Amino acid sequence: MKSLAESFEIVRRQIADDCIKADRDPESVALLAVSKTRSTDEIRAAAATGQTSFGENYLQEALEKIEALEELGLEWHFIGPIQSNKTRPIAENFHWVHSVDRLKIAQRLSDQRPHYANDLNICIQVNISAEEQKAGCSVAELPQLAREIAALPKICLRGLMVIPEATEDLELLRSRFRETAQLLAQLKPEIPTLDTLSMGMSGDLDVAIAEGATMVRVGTALFGPRNSPRAN
Ligand SMILES: *Cc1c(COP(=O)(O)O)cnc(C)c1O
Repeated sequence: MKSLAESFEIVRRQIADDCIKADRDPESVALLAVSKTRSTDEIRAAAATGQTSFGENYLQEALEKIEALEELGLEWHFIGPIQSNKTRPIAENFHWVHSVDRLKIAQRLSDQRPHYANDLNICIQVNISAEEQKAGCSVAELPQLAREIAALPKICLRGLMVIPEATEDLELLRSRFRETAQLLAQLKPEIPTLDTLSMGMSGDLDVAIAEGATMVRVGTALFGPRNSPRAN
């Protein structure tokens, strides 16, 4: 068994190698450690390797960890589905939200963000593969939604997040990431705070980095196979 510190080292090196292959600055891709289902001890061990940003999907589980680990000063990213009646604790406890796909959610996050806190960083989740049951706004809806969210107080619209369809077809995957990068580039002149492409997970971060990812969300490659999610 590899130690957690070794796995973090391997993934960091892989990100740097993928950047160099893509002719990119190795510092241009941030590693978000996806810690859903992981214990506070595992997160502490990850933090001891220098990891500061963590992604969580399940709100109740995340809130308990955020409280238990408060003294570490970690940066928390919400990356899971958002129910509109659960926005307040997200607005109060997270630094980033990657899974916003409708205006109502963004409005509530803006309204509920505490006045003393910095603006909440948001990525719009785009259903880039147009899958029927998948979260995310459509490509057609994106420009209008981005404009409306960017105009909200207490929100800083940072970028786009995608989870393409599960496929073995690397060229199809590549085309999904490429289209996402193009969408961001098209919006950028109008919305200068946009600087983030949240794309790439354990199985496809090399392709995502080749196509311009600036933040990869990695769970399994860092922490090993996942325990089943806890019921909320
Ligand atoms: C679980 C999850 C990840 C991490 O997936 P791995 O395959 O374990 O790296 C990334 N993004 C989102 C939105 C997730 O839910």
